[in-house]
Parts: sequence; structure tokens; C-alpha cells
Amino acid sequence: QKALWAKLVHEKTVTRDGYHVELVANIGSPHDASQAMENGAEGIGLFRTEFLYMGKDRFPTEEEQFAAYKAIAQTMGSERPVIIRTLDIGGDKELPYLPLPKEQNPFLGYRAIRMCLDRADLFKTQLRAILRASEYGDIKIMYPMIATIGELRKANEFLAECKEELQREGISYRQELEVGIMIEVPAAVMIADQLAREVDFFSIGTNDLIQYTMAADRMNEHVSHLYDPFHPAVLRMIHHVIKAAAQEGKWVGMCGEMAGEPHAIPILLGLGLQEFSMSATSILQARHLLAQLDAGQLRELAMHVLTLESGAEIKAYVKEHVLDVL
Ligand code: PEP
Ligand code: MG
Repeated sequence: QKALWAKLVHEKTVTRDGYHVELVANIGSPHDASQAMENGAEGIGLFRTEFLYMGKDRFPTEEEQFAAYKAIAQTMGSERPVIIRTLDIGGDKELPYLPLPKEQNPFLGYRAIRMCLDRADLFKTQLRAILRASEYGDIKIMYPMIATIGELRKANEFLAECKEELQREGISYRQELEVGIMIEVPAAVMIADQLAREVDFFSIGTNDLIQYTMAADRMNEHVSHLYDPFHPAVLRMIHHVIKAAAQEGKWVGMCGEMAGEPHAIPILLGLGLQEFSMSATSILQARHLLAQLDAGQLRELAMHVLTLESGAEIKAYVKEHVLDVL
């Protein structure tokens, strides 16, 4: 099996009926980018920049961040997109040098874009570093935890300020740099039509979207039966987001764990997901699976599972109808 997958390292990801999807990697450090390449990633769908901020006693400087982003862009080359997610700290991730108020519900609290919009110093340092690195590859920016259109606009204002500053300083950046957001808060799902007008792409963050949709902490084993990617509510949200984006001609990817789950892939393909971002080690297996799937046929399967009543039924239906390739 492994040898079969290895043959696919340099191949594009094409379904049996000739439909191309992007199989890209989630990474946490510049070093992971080479592993992503070795595993045949067509790009980076999520660089979790938090890791640049961890294991330190102070914030990384603009130069340090620039060097890290540039290294990833160069490893991937100009043909492979690299999506850099701005700082997603808070929730379960803390920084020893950033004292945050103790919270009753950290996952519902002061995290990610919510904090960055308050901390222009931190946020702009990161945006400037990303802009500067964008000269070295196909870098895209992604904001985490967007819940309102105001947050998106405010983040974009900071980005515009950074661009102006760089221009004044005579420092170049990629003019056509795409800006997208993570869809990981149910509110963002419900206003996806409005958000879609002001972004270049969406990436669905199911790790958080599932916990917020089901009101079930992703780390709490007592409610893990509720934390179900196949729950009809989750699948209907994904469907809704993809439709809203398509209306505006924007593309949709997914960077939560669900994107690499073999039983979910046929449904996601059928729903029209265009980019699947997963851990590097899952890519070749997913490419092998996708090559055997028929996107056209799976559209019907996807529409059917949306009418079923439980995650268990949906998963069983996929197992029964796509079984020979799973
Ligand atoms: C997600 O929420 O699905 C996601 C990819 O982000 P993280 O796991 O870093 O919260
Ligand atoms: Mg998340």
C-alpha cells in the first residue's frame, strides 16, 4: 500500500472523473514544510504561526518572523500556495510572556483575532513580516476565529496600513496577495454570504467549528460522543458555506482534522470542497483515495446524506456506498 502511495508524490490530485482538488498540508514550523514536500503536498493550507511564538521569553521580532515565512515560501516554490494564519493564541494555547486574564471559558474568550485586533503592535508586526515574505512565493493571509464582518474589516484596515507603511519605506510585497478567513464559528457560517463578498477564500476549521456547533469541548472526553464531524448539523454548515462562497465565485478549503478523514472525504468532495488541508502524512493516502472517487456521483451521495438524521447513519451510509475504495 505504502509503495502504491509513494508513486503519487509528484502527481496532482485528480478524481476518477477528472476533477482537480488541492491536497495541501497543515504545518507548525518552517521545518515541517520540507516534510510536506516529501509527502507530495501541493501547498500549505494552514501554517499555525503560534509555534513561532511559543518556547520563547518574548514575542518574535518582525525579522525573525520574516525569516520563517520566507523560508517556507522558498521551500514550497512559486507554484505552491502557502496560507499563513495570523496568531491564534488563547483558548488552549498560552504564551508564558503574555499575561492574559484568567477566563471561565477560554475557548469562548479572548483569543485569536479578538486579541490581535486589540494589539496593533503584535498584529502589525506579524502582518508586515508576512507581506515582506510574500515576495518569495505564493503566500496568502488567513485570519482565525472571525465571527463578524467588522472583525474582518478591521483586520483588513491593519493590513492596508502595513502595506502603506512598506510602500513608504520602499519595501516591496506581492500586490495580488489573497486574503481569506477561517470559518470556525457558527456565526460566520450564517453570514458566509456577506463575508464571501469581502474575502478571496474560506478555510473551514472543523476542529473549532464542531465544538462550537455541538457545544462540546474538543478536549473533553465526557462529551466526545457529541463531537462528531458527521453530525448532520456540521455537514449542513459545510454545505451552506460552500454554496455561499460559490455564489460569490470564491473557493473553499478545509483545514480541520476532518479534511483528512477517509470517510469524510467522499462527502466533502460531493459537497464541492476544493482544497483539503491535512497533516503531511495523510496526503498520499488521500490522493490515492480521491483518484478512485467520482466527484459527479458523490454529489448525489452528499445531497442524500444531508437528509439523514445522525452521524452514525451518515457514516454507515458512506461505508456502505463507497466501501470498495475505503
Ligand atoms: C480548526 O479549528 O479546525 C483549526 C484548523 O484550527 P486549530 O486546530 O489550530 O484551532
Ligand atoms: Mg481553530
